[in-house]
Amino acid sequence: METVLNFINGKKVESKGEVISPIYNPATGQQIRQVRMSTAEEAIEAVDVAQSAFPAWAETSPLRRARILFKFKELLEKNFDSLARLITEEHGKVYSDSIGELTRGLEVVEFACGIPHLLKGEFSEQAGRGIDIHSAMQPLGVCVGITPFNFPAMVPMWMFPVALACGNTFILKPSKTDPSLSVRLAELLKEAGLPDGVFNVVHGERYDNEILLKEPRVKAVSFVGSSAVAAQVYKLGSEYGKRVQALGAAKNHGLVMPDVDIEATANSLLGAAFGAAGERCMALPIAVTIDDETADKLVNALKPKIEALRYGPGLLKDGEKEMDFGPLITQQHLNNVTNYINKGVEEGATLVVDGRGKKPNGYENGYFIGGTLFDRVTPEMTIYKEEIFGPVLGIVRAKSFDEALDLINKHQFGNGTAIFTNNGAAAREFTYKVQAGMVGVNVPIPVPMAFHCFGGWKDSAFSTLNVYGPDGVRFYTKMKTVTTRWPEVNVNSKASFAMPTL
Ligand code: NAD
Repeated sequence: METVLNFINGKKVESKGEVISPIYNPATGQQIRQVRMSTAEEAIEAVDVAQSAFPAWAETSPLRRARILFKFKELLEKNFDSLARLITEEHGKVYSDSIGELTRGLEVVEFACGIPHLLKGEFSEQAGRGIDIHSAMQPLGVCVGITPFNFPAMVPMWMFPVALACGNTFILKPSKTDPSLSVRLAELLKEAGLPDGVFNVVHGERYDNEILLKEPRVKAVSFVGSSAVAAQVYKLGSEYGKRVQALGAAKNHGLVMPDVDIEATANSLLGAAFGAAGERCMALPIAVTIDDETADKLVNALKPKIEALRYGPGLLKDGEKEMDFGPLITQQHLNNVTNYINKGVEEGATLVVDGRGKKPNGYENGYFIGGTLFDRVTPEMTIYKEEIFGPVLGIVRAKSFDEALDLINKHQFGNGTAIFTNNGAAAREFTYKVQAGMVGVNVPIPVPMAFHCFGGWKDSAFSTLNVYGPDGVRFYTKMKTVTTRWPEVNVNSKASFAMPTL
């Protein structure tokens, strides 16, 4: 059985860890690889290496660093097909979705290629008589990224291109369920000319992560995963004096106003709720209406579309038509999603389309579940309160715009949300008042482009700075402000004991 290796100091190395975690192809349920959970010593070794590589990388000019990332971007593009296949093989999402995820990651690399512009700092000439002030943004040191299973390429690429372009070194701890892609990214970075030790990959579990969170030489931690873990990582990392950005779970609502084109809105909801089998933090698993007539029309439009959804393996033979979505990540997650649907029925939601127990022919051992639609979901129900992370869409019938807005604002998660309407005033009121970090107006999955920033509110993110974009640059740098006066200028040479004013 092939073992996925760590990547430390420019080389693939086998971990001596005794705990072995199997990697499955979720479409077939067959084990395809395995990965060893690194030992504490190996996690520390990665920090040693990243710390040693830091001074030279930090002193490399921003332009030279950017050129390596530019080369990395070219290599990514050249290898898109094989990278996408690897994502699909271990994660299960359909091939075009893997290409989409790579493209969104690539966009952050493109942003990072222009980072020298954002590292310029500011300059005030003659801030006082004969005195100039400038600020510089300097790298932090060793940074760590801990990433979830659902975007094995995109989420790491939200982090390391920005961290590296700013002059930091990086240790990536990917998810153990689909870890191969990170090692391929490390190889491509090396091929692009990145010096050894600047980017490292250490596989592991909770205990290794805790070592990285406590290790004094680690200066910043970027985490993306479930909210319970995000909160713990934020607390522990902060206690140990690190900068931490920890992004968590979501339950994004789409508000469907009575004036919409129902067909177009149903299609938008379909892609946003069922794409990637609902395993996206920016999926839209809840649609809220403000009148029964719109809710009835929406259910009628969605029902046949959901029944007709095609799900199956993410990679097909030439000439076969691609599926709409693939399997869930593991058997355990399939059980969790099935249990949520059982719970929805028990708690009284109306099950309009039931995806339980439906497997595509020939893939009976894969972790598949069909699209599911619930109507008359209420805020007290578990399927409303908790993140399901599966292909399950619920419709909540509110009685007014204000009630719908209040519902969204009271939910514990506030990652993304969207409004579907032709009414500008309603859209403006919604975008102004809604308590969520990323808002779409007739855009179901409003993931900001790389030159903006990504981040949720409430229990969806524990951080003062968002991910990538200008916030990413601020997160991965510390600012130094220099006040300069040259002696030949005719200045008052008497000592002054009052707080200086310029
Ligand atoms: P997870 O929390 O189980 O794991 C995420 C990472 O944390 C993994 O690398 C895992 O090994 C590590 N980890 C687990 N326990 C840990 C601990 N105690 N201390 C430190 N690290 C620990 O999440 P997952 O199941 O891989 O991913 C799905 C979750 O991620 C969903 O909740 C989804 O909403 C969320 N997510 C959020 C965003 C976002 O931008 N907000 C993006 C993608 C995924």
